[in-house]
Amino acid sequence: MIEIKNVSKWYGSFQVLTDCSTTVNKGEVVVVCGPSGSGKSTLIKTVNALEPFQQGEILVDGVSIGDPKTNLPKLRSRVGMVFQHFELFPHLSVTENLTLAQVKVLGRSKDEARARGLKMLDRVGLMAHKDKFPGQLSGGQQQRVAIARALSMDPIVMLFDEPTSALDPEMVGEVLDVMVQLAQEGMTMMCVTHEMGFARKVSHRVIFMDQGKIIEDCKKEEFFGNPEARSPRAKDFLSKIL
Ligand code: ADP
Ligand code: MG
Repeated sequence: MIEIKNVSKWYGSFQVLTDCSTTVNKGEVVVVCGPSGSGKSTLIKTVNALEPFQQGEILVDGVSIGDPKTNLPKLRSRVGMVFQHFELFPHLSVTENLTLAQVKVLGRSKDEARARGLKMLDRVGLMAHKDKFPGQLSGGQQQRVAIARALSMDPIVMLFDEPTSALDPEMVGEVLDVMVQLAQEGMTMMCVTHEMGFARKVSHRVIFMDQGKIIEDCKKEEFFGNPEARSPRAKDFLSKIL
């Protein structure tokens, strides 16, 4: 579903990604972790073309992001993205947040978009809040709305960038529960997160990044079950967060 091939990226003269390669297969859940500043957000943003890259190639469902002939808005609309900060439109109700892009980007009718949006809102357990504004919801609820909004676009893959790290601790669980449920339903997911409980429970593979490089890319069982085989940097990182 996602193929990242030898991707390198520079901000000016600073190389932020160096020769990154990995694949995410259909139905696979891949967790990306690593120290702050290691390039995790940049890597995940290249996948839906929010960040350009200078070398390498990325294919999403076989379509090359760097190809000038690719319809980027269309491709992007099929890649759901959930950020650390929920980025809901504050002046729109929950239902309006859920329907806007469906109407504007996918060309759905308002009724169709509303039906789809409310179905996804129900899925994240927030139907009772459909007419509220984001400011009236807790951080955890806002993040669940953001997930429902992404799902309303019928994404073929979901990207998460530290979706729980801006939340108060008591709200982390409700967001992870939604992500676990999605994973168990077979959604293809690439998740930047330091929630190793989530990684252990539902991920298939774990990628560890450091200084713009993918240092580890292995099956979950190998990553957690065989710590002695990990690189010194991954070991050090794991010892701090586990
Ligand atoms: P992570 O998500 O792992 O914390 P990022 O991908 O956000 O890392 O950032 C990787 C590196 O790139 C950091 O050193 C950061 O300071 C730098 N960086 C990120 N965005 C920009 C930008 N727009 N311009 C210049 N440098 C950037
Ligand atoms: Mg980041």
